[in-house]
Amino acid sequence: MQTALTDSTEIAADFLNSGGVVAFPTETVYGLGAGICHPEAISKVFRAKGRPGDNPLIVHIYCLEQLADVAAEINSDARLLIERFFPGPLTLVLKKNPCVPDSVTAGLETVGVRCPANPVAQEFLSRCSCPVAAPSANLSGLPSATSWESVYEDLNGKIDCVLRGKPSTIGLESTIVECSGSVPILLRAGAITLEQLQAVLPEIRVNAVTDEREAPKSPGLKYPHYAPKASILFYNANETVAIGPSSAYIGLSDPPEGVSLFRICLNLEEFGRELFRFFRYCDAQCIKVIYCELPADTGLGRAIRDRLLRASGRH
Ligand code: AMP
Ligand code: MG
Repeated sequence: MQTALTDSTEIAADFLNSGGVVAFPTETVYGLGAGICHPEAISKVFRAKGRPGDNPLIVHIYCLEQLADVAAEINSDARLLIERFFPGPLTLVLKKNPCVPDSVTAGLETVGVRCPANPVAQEFLSRCSCPVAAPSANLSGLPSATSWESVYEDLNGKIDCVLRGKPSTIGLESTIVECSGSVPILLRAGAITLEQLQAVLPEIRVNAVTDEREAPKSPGLKYPHYAPKASILFYNANETVAIGPSSAYIGLSDPPEGVSLFRICLNLEEFGRELFRFFRYCDAQCIKVIYCELPADTGLGRAIRDRLLRASGRH
């Protein structure tokens, strides 16, 4: 299959509206979209990514009026979060509207909904004739794509079109909050931090699967994620480590001595934005080990820690 590259939201939306699969930019990471009214296109998203069928997709809308097409019930917690954080890097899990196909929600009674703030995403979604189901636009298990070039690298020949935009400004997937039960639950950390959520909903809980037999609340959390080919090791500033050849480092502190490649980030925002791009760059340079500094578990540090722990296979 030929994968078209375009800068035009109109051309990209034409592909989607005729049953195609289209990658598009958002502020978190690039998404791989299919109209929820095109079941064949939804299956193609799973095939192109190699994504397990029991890992549901997030549905993307461009305005609040579209919410009713996706969700059956919006409780008072969800309303508060929508007021404060939509549009933006927040996904809400809500009771689903029956017209959302089971293939999108992996048979769950709930649906993840997000309204991205990126203006190109907004324009593209507004031209699509139905809400757009979209996981991250990368091969399953690999680091998410934060630029159109990374999307193309993973999915050229497997999807219909890539809408080229700027690199994602956040670079980490959306925060996910379940709002379909009596207590809101943070399922995945992201750029909307736990502290920001607590300011709106003080009773919010953090999802912690302590019992192996307990089904994870968010099916995707059980799969390996974000992993570069290189191994991930953790590094504390000022620790002495014996660095082998082809090693790299990313973090806020100075790198360990002897790494062949490093990225010192000025702050957590830059760390989050650069992380997946750096992983992919390291793979292209045949780096064998990436030393990563683990930020503290607060603010944006929580999301970066989560991605690093998962990428290292320790989550
Ligand atoms: P991705 O789009 O690749 O960032 O993955 C989407 C994430 O959202 C996965 O971890 C899914 O498990 C999660 N997700 C999507 N829909 C739901 C839902 N209805 N309930 C819980 N988690 C969901
Ligand atoms: Mg993903």
